Parts: sequence; structure tokens; C-alpha cells
Amino acid sequence: MTDKDSSLNEPAVEAESAEAALKTIVDGFLHFHHEVFPQQEELFKKLATAQTPRAMFITCADSRIVPELITHSSPGDLFVTRNVGNVVPPYGQMNGGVSTAIEYAVMALGVHHIIVCGHSDCGAMRAVLNPHTLEKMPTVKAWLRHAEVAKTVVHDNCNCATEAESMKVLTEENVIAQLQHLRTHPSVASRMASGQLFIHGWVYSIETSEIKAYDAERDCFVPLDGTLPTPSATPKGRF
Ligand SMILES: [Zn+2]
Repeated sequence: MTDKDSSLNEPAVEAESAEAALKTIVDGFLHFHHEVFPQQEELFKKLATAQTPRAMFITCADSRIVPELITHSSPGDLFVTRNVGNVVPPYGQMNGGVSTAIEYAVMALGVHHIIVCGHSDCGAMRAVLNPHTLEKMPTVKAWLRHAEVAKTVVHDNCNCATEAESMKVLTEENVIAQLQHLRTHPSVASRMASGQLFIHGWVYSIETSEIKAYDAERDCFVPLDGTLPTPSATPKGRF
């Protein structure tokens, strides 16, 4: 979701006609089917009956975030869950799609990494800062209550001078809040405790393509620049 005018009601860029939009999508599919697929037939044959993704990737539904593109991944590499605001409801509050996907990724697929990835210019974060824009969107408003904790942390602890600064801090705090929610899921908590599962909090910049990763040891976001060890939000395993 994006929104340049502090409102979720109007598209930020002029859209093509509905008919043209669908035609573009169908043409894209036909190109994939006839040109791209035949070149990768071996991979798709292998994937036809099984998947062993490297990681679960939880990010925003925003059309500008393409997990496979920004991580240079192929089909089968990432188990992706997307929603407005890259939210992870705490365990027990909702048996919705996110909780189901987490349990499945951890228990059935045995992923070793879960990445929660927020992003710049997030319409959901802007809406959290400007709740009056959600008056006619009760479902979005209810969903974003899972980000309320981040808003309170920012409100009580930061003296942000501009909305841009508030957006930056809120986006980071929201990722940290969702990582905390993630840890309330029993499947996640158990495998983290045994050192089999690692969680990561990232913020992706649409404008520069840079990613900042939350480093739990230093308690701050640092550039994901290939320096080892890769910054992680995971505490040490206890068992
Ligand atoms: Zn977003």
C-alpha cells in the first residue's frame, strides 16, 4: 500500500484503464508461459512435487516490494506471506493466514529462517500515524492494531521532528514489534530455543534498494552489506 497524500483513499499514481491493466497481466502470463517457462523447465519439473524453501519471508502487500527480485531468488526458494503492514498477529489472537503460514513453514517445511521485512514509504505505517484516514476502512483499522505497540513506543520515546522521521522510526519499530509477536508462536519459540530457527528483521528502501537489518546484539538497524556475521534478531539458543 502506498499513499503520497496521507490518505489511503486515492491512488498515488495515475492508473491505466481497467481493461488495459488486465491485458498487460495476461500478456505477461503468455510471455512467461511461452518464453520463460521452457527455459527453466528442469527447475519447474523438480518443483512440481516438492518444495524446500530456504526461508520464510513475511512482508507488506505493497506492489513495489518483490521478495524474489530483491533477494535474487528463484521459484521454490522463499515461502512468502504478505499482508498490509507486514504484520504478525501474536499467537492465539487470530487463527488467520499469517499464523497458519508460520506454523506450516516451521513444522511442515522445516525452514531455518524467518525474515520480517518492512519497507520505506509504507502506506500502512502512514495510516498508523494518521488513523483518521482509516475511518471508512474498519478492517484495515482493526488489522493495524497489531502495529499499535510500535506507535506507542515511538510516541513515548522519540522526538521526531518531521513525519519522514516518524515514518522511519515507526517502520523499524513495527518490524521489531512483529518479531516479538513472532516469538509468541509456540512452533517458533521452541525451534528458536533449540537453535534450529533464526529470525530476522529487515527494512527495505524502495528508492535505493538498500536493506537495513535489525541487530539484536547491538539493538539497532545496520546496513545489510555482506559483513559477517549477518546481523540477526535471534537470541542464542538455550538448548
Ligand atoms: Zn507497506
